[in-house]
Amino acid sequence: MTRSARKRKRIPQRTCVGCRSVRPKRELVRIVRTPEGCLAVDDTGKRSGRGAYICPISDCWEKALSKGHLSRALRTSVTAETRSQLREYAADLRPEAGALEKGVGEDE
Ligand SMILES: [Zn+2]
Repeated sequence: MTRSARKRKRIPQRTCVGCRSVRPKRELVRIVRTPEGCLAVDDTGKRSGRGAYICPISDCWEKALSKGHLSRALRTSVTAETRSQLREYAADLRPEAGALEKGVGEDE
C-alpha cells in the first residue's frame, strides 16, 4: 500500500459514450478501433487506435450501441457482428449503476 503515499496525480477523466457521465479513466472500459477497422474491448487500456470509453455497466453499453454513440465516437460504423460481440461482453457486466446495492432484480 505504499503506492498511495506517492504524490497525488491528476486522475485522467473520460466521458462514457453511453450515459455521458465523466469518470476516472480506470473505472471505464475502453473500446478501441483497430487499424483493420474492427472494434475491440481494450482490457489493458494501452492498445493504439482511437478509443472510446464506456462504464462497466451493461445499460451504458446498450445505450452506446443502440443510439449510435459508439460509432460516432469512433467515427466508424459498428457492424452487426461487432455489436453482438460487444453485447456479449456487456452481458457479464452489472446491469445498472447501484444494482448491487439494491440487490439484483428488476423492481420497476
Ligand atoms: Zn455510462
